[in-house]
Amino acid sequence: MDFNKNAKYVIGADLGGTNVRAAVVDRDGNIVGEGRAESKAMEGLAATVGQIALAINTAVENSPATMADVAGVGMGVPGTVKSKEGRVMWSPNFLGWDGIQLAQPIVDQIGVPTLLGNDANVAALGECVFGAGKGSKCMVMFTLGTGIGSGLIIDGEIWVGTNESGPEMGHAIVAADGPRCGCGRYGCLEALAQRDAIIDRAARKAHLGRRTSLLEKSNHDLRYITPAMIAEAASEGDPVSIETMQETGYYIGIGVANAINMLNPDKVVIGGGIAQAGDLLFDPIRDTVEVNALYQQLQGCEVVPAQLGDNAGVLGGAAMVFQRII
Ligand SMILES: [Zn+2]
Repeated sequence: MDFNKNAKYVIGADLGGTNVRAAVVDRDGNIVGEGRAESKAMEGLAATVGQIALAINTAVENSPATMADVAGVGMGVPGTVKSKEGRVMWSPNFLGWDGIQLAQPIVDQIGVPTLLGNDANVAALGECVFGAGKGSKCMVMFTLGTGIGSGLIIDGEIWVGTNESGPEMGHAIVAADGPRCGCGRYGCLEALAQRDAIIDRAARKAHLGRRTSLLEKSNHDLRYITPAMIAEAASEGDPVSIETMQETGYYIGIGVANAINMLNPDKVVIGGGIAQAGDLLFDPIRDTVEVNALYQQLQGCEVVPAQLGDNAGVLGGAAMVFQRII
């Protein structure tokens, strides 16, 4: 199916384990209509495709566009995606998606061409085209959350690697004797700086009997600590929380320095909820990068927070389609 190159709008979509979000986007990157639906991950492929179509149709209804004004859909999907074939090879959220065709059933329901990409890669493209990476020739993005995703954009294109598995910089080993990672190896960046690792780091300090305002914030039950609580307590001067942010920033900084030494990027963009802690996290990241990145590789490289927040995915999906029609 061909893209309508004269269309005024494209649709970006972001499929998650809980919800699917779609946005109608104009050529300047403005979101002019949105739709959202449950992704029904446990109910099988047909149910999820129906929900994707529902989110897309709702976005169009909520916008000035009709489907005839839309050039195509670009969607980020969690897992390993064969973009050219429109297939999903594996997904942590959608069990049984092992080589399934996802693009075609969407096309069959909505009648416009549909492109798929890995969600972290698509979000990185969104930041590169519309956000913190604007103008970058080589941009690396880390997304901090319950895992650590990464994306690499070279000359405006997603770098997907030999078999479209892409770089997984969250699994760069930053402490060879470190804790076990979800991937089964030891000392990955993800094992040291994803959400639960940050919470454990703070909770261990509190268990050692150190005074911390995290106790009051969590109602004296350390299981309820969140990264947002740690960031808030750190900004109020709580020593345990400040140390937690510094140690976390150190490990992220090692991961970033590795990326800089290997790829010589001009921008490293760091996003995800935890990155909203701002300088509390970015200061130790930048200090660690300064020490551990090679001098030449670091020249002209900036380490910056993401700008698009939750919109990176849908805007990246839109950017994938714009690249086909410009
Ligand atoms: Zn790992």
